[in-house]
Amino acid sequence: MNVYDDLGVTEVINGVGPATRLGGLPMAPEVWEAMQRATASPVHLADLQRGAGAELARLLGAPAAYVTSGAFAALTLAAAVCMTSAEPAAVDRLPRTGGIPHRFLVQRAQRDPYDRAIEVAGGRLRDVGYPGTTHPGELEAALARPTAGVLYRPGYRGNLLALAEVCEIAHRVGVPVIVDAALVVPPVTALRELLDAGADLIAVSGGKGFRGPQSSGLLLGRVELVEAVALHHQDMDERATTWHRAPLSPPRHGIGRGMKTGREQIVGLLAAVRRYLSDPGADDAAGVAELDIAAALLAADPRVAIERSADPHLGVPVIAVTFIEEADVDEVVRGLLALPVPVHLGQDRADTGTLVINPMALKPGHGRALATSILTVLDRLT
Ligand SMILES: *Cc1c(COP(=O)(O)O)cnc(C)c1O
Repeated sequence: MNVYDDLGVTEVINGVGPATRLGGLPMAPEVWEAMQRATASPVHLADLQRGAGAELARLLGAPAAYVTSGAFAALTLAAAVCMTSAEPAAVDRLPRTGGIPHRFLVQRAQRDPYDRAIEVAGGRLRDVGYPGTTHPGELEAALARPTAGVLYRPGYRGNLLALAEVCEIAHRVGVPVIVDAALVVPPVTALRELLDAGADLIAVSGGKGFRGPQSSGLLLGRVELVEAVALHHQDMDERATTWHRAPLSPPRHGIGRGMKTGREQIVGLLAAVRRYLSDPGADDAAGVAELDIAAALLAADPRVAIERSADPHLGVPVIAVTFIEEADVDEVVRGLLALPVPVHLGQDRADTGTLVINPMALKPGHGRALATSILTVLDRLT
């Protein structure tokens, strides 16, 4: 009996990987033990953010770090900081942006549903370029109007502006560049490349490659910008006379107050990052072994074709499963979800009739269960 049974909630097989709707990845005992230790002692969250941020910045080689409740929250807080800097009166205004530059530029090819994170803070996104191409002059022209920041999302193909070029053009007019690195960091070398290219603020997920708490993330980057995040994020039940920056008046609760990070998440993420750095990718091995079992079983069945590759973002090996008798992929998905233990697979390539198995969340026995489930559904459909 697991903790969900008496709630009437069915455990699933997660072949998608670090998906938030499936609860993300399991945490290593080391991580939840750190969370348990964190919960035992009250601390001031501002002190903890400062201490953990300094340690995370040191470990990751970034100028500064701040723990958020995810990469989405990191993007929202980054947008807020770009609009207000550390000015308490401006912090108090958001998400109302009258009189505050609140335009954010993004290359059209790099748009993504997570763009909503910028809008939550009061930012407004404007596309630059076309679906597969951007010219430098288009970014320069768009920057002629008051602009709060440029959003950059790595990993898209096309004749796009590279991050270094975007930073060079934006910095000429004093505009910061925010990078959505939720899928590309770790590895930590990728973070180094983003910083070297000139990124001002970098949003990273704590629950994806780092395998930290699912409700954790990081905002990394320039010291003065990262320090200003606290104003938007932290609980502001403070009296003006005793606030640490008195006689300056503190702002009230900011737009990030609903995205709070507990001490358990902060300490848990730190433990996960330390563990990751001690042996990058080691925690992926058990799931990859399950993936191999699934691949061997599926390869033996003539109704499916399997193809091995690496996830383009997360770097882990994955297998793509295509149905040779052209079983309708939506029917297969519905069949898998209707099983007593529902199976979730990646659907990014469903338009070409392919489902993808990611190993990161697979538990012992899941490789066999996954393959058997797929073949059972095919038995019913064909
Ligand atoms: C997952 C993801 C996010 C959000 O990350 P969370 O840590 O779940 O908030 C943002 N942007 C991209 C591109 C992502 O893939």
